[in-house]
Amino acid sequence: MARRLLTIGECMVELMQAEGDLLRKGYAGDSFNTAYYARRFLPADWSVDYLTAVGTDTVSDDMLAFMESTGVDTHLIHRIEGRSPGLYMIHLKDGERSFSYWRSTSAAKLLADDADHLRKAVETAGIIVFSGITLAILAENAVETLLSELRRAKAEDKLVVFDPNIRPRLWDDGQRMLDTISAGARASNLVMPSFEDEATHFGDADIAATIARYRGLGVGNLVVKDGANGVTLSFKGQETVFVPTVRVEKVVDTTSAGDSFNGAFLARYAVNGDARAAAEFAARAAASVIQHHGALIAADKLPAA
Ligand code: ADP
Repeated sequence: MARRLLTIGECMVELMQAEGDLLRKGYAGDSFNTAYYARRFLPADWSVDYLTAVGTDTVSDDMLAFMESTGVDTHLIHRIEGRSPGLYMIHLKDGERSFSYWRSTSAAKLLADDADHLRKAVETAGIIVFSGITLAILAENAVETLLSELRRAKAEDKLVVFDPNIRPRLWDDGQRMLDTISAGARASNLVMPSFEDEATHFGDADIAATIARYRGLGVGNLVVKDGANGVTLSFKGQETVFVPTVRVEKVVDTTSAGDSFNGAFLARYAVNGDARAAAEFAARAAASVIQHHGALIAADKLPAA
């Protein structure tokens, strides 16, 4: 397998309350967060590439510089004149977080417009990771362009990984959301859903129902996350395995719990192919992440790779 993990999606500018009306700028987005954690935990002979689109403005320059500073490779990122990255603001009120988004004209919405570029990027990767958020921001024809490249990769037995990350506010049509998430899963051979989202939007009665539904779509391998309750692994030809979470006394901020789990899991699974050991390690990584503020936690606060 090519030692190259590719994640595809949107990274946004994040504005967070600092003091009073002062804001602090950061960069985050589910697919980039996963790339960040995969980079932290993969050996140096693996590369982690991020595919998105940004603008040609200063904030796009800064975002690329930030990505490069984390070790994530940016050479596949297209720059689009006249566009800018999407932006979101985190509001903190009485300890509760809420979000405002400005992303309807973000450059990333055009990330799948160049089919040749997408094909070359996917061809050189051993593992390709995308999410329901990646699909939600794309126009319908761009979803089809992306999924046809991923179906080709799946047919070539590459590891195509999908986190449904169901976010109804990103979709203007509920049925199209469910149909597109299912199409994303069909193009994948490892799906990493959060049970709560699946139960809410697909009506799954229990984790076994989530596994059965994705199996029915031709997904061989599943890692079903269930917050503090642990994860259930169902891998082709293997018994179903439950991996408990690591106990956390005080949860500070659950942002990126699922993304860090995914990145850490894939880093371990890529190297040793042992799903249970990878999930145990990922549970430790996610437990560290939720004990700190923000999506991207410094390496010294994470378990050793
Ligand atoms: P998502 O962010 O995708 O909704 P989950 O909430 O299922 O993901 O959490 C992802 C992972 O983070 C879990 O599988 C678990 O390892 C870890 N995690 C989440 N919440 C807790 C918690 N309260 N205590 C310990 N670990 C947790």
